[in-house]
Amino acid sequence: MNLPAIAILGGTFDPVHIGHVRSAQELCHRLGLNQCLLVPCHLPPHRESPQSSADHRLQMVELAVAGIDGLAADDRELRRSGPSYTVDTLAEIRAEQGAAVSVNFVMGSDAYNNLHTWSRWQSLFEFANVVVMHRDGFRETPVPEVRDYAATRLVDPERLKDISHGAMAHVALTPWPQSATQVREYLQRGVIPGDSLPAGVADYIKQHRLYFGEPENADKA
Ligand code: ATP
Repeated sequence: MNLPAIAILGGTFDPVHIGHVRSAQELCHRLGLNQCLLVPCHLPPHRESPQSSADHRLQMVELAVAGIDGLAADDRELRRSGPSYTVDTLAEIRAEQGAAVSVNFVMGSDAYNNLHTWSRWQSLFEFANVVVMHRDGFRETPVPEVRDYAATRLVDPERLKDISHGAMAHVALTPWPQSATQVREYLQRGVIPGDSLPAGVADYIKQHRLYFGEPENADKA
């Protein structure tokens, strides 16, 4: 039984980089998913406010996915005020998609290691499968509560497209060493790390002088 299957990659995307885009593409291909939505958060609950405004971050994600089959930007969290809770996003997506769709929430190993701090994290599984993609340089070290909860739900990644929600899988994709932190550090020093950014995103950053010098584009929303 193959269900229609989608993935959701949430993030600050401050800015979106090649590691996000290539991993999302490969994941879709590997798991046989129809689409992967990149969902920039409004205000991340677990970390400092983004340096660039919600509008800039969304525009960069739109440029990054333009013309790539299967990838799309989704602005729903930016349209909500206040912190972006993934569980609310997944509940909304499930209500839109109906029951007979495999919905897969994707996170890198670094995010997985902090899952216990997320609001109502167990409820993510009520609405979606959770897929952890191995991220270069981050060993998976979930707290025991998360590890044990996840262990009972583990399936082979290939099975995800047959399961609407409630399962958990780990995938090792081609490693991409990029991080947004590292990209911002380069830009702060006036260097555009062209290899780490989709061309349209690099042009947008140049044009709007994002991340150069002192942070002045702080998200005031
Ligand atoms: P920062 O350096 O500011 O923390 P980031 O590069 O981790 O940013 P996020 O927007 O926080 O980017 O990441 C969104 C999601 O993408 C997270 O689940 C994260 O683990 C994952 N991710 C980010 N970069 C990579 C990468 N290079 N390879 C695989 N997954 C990644």
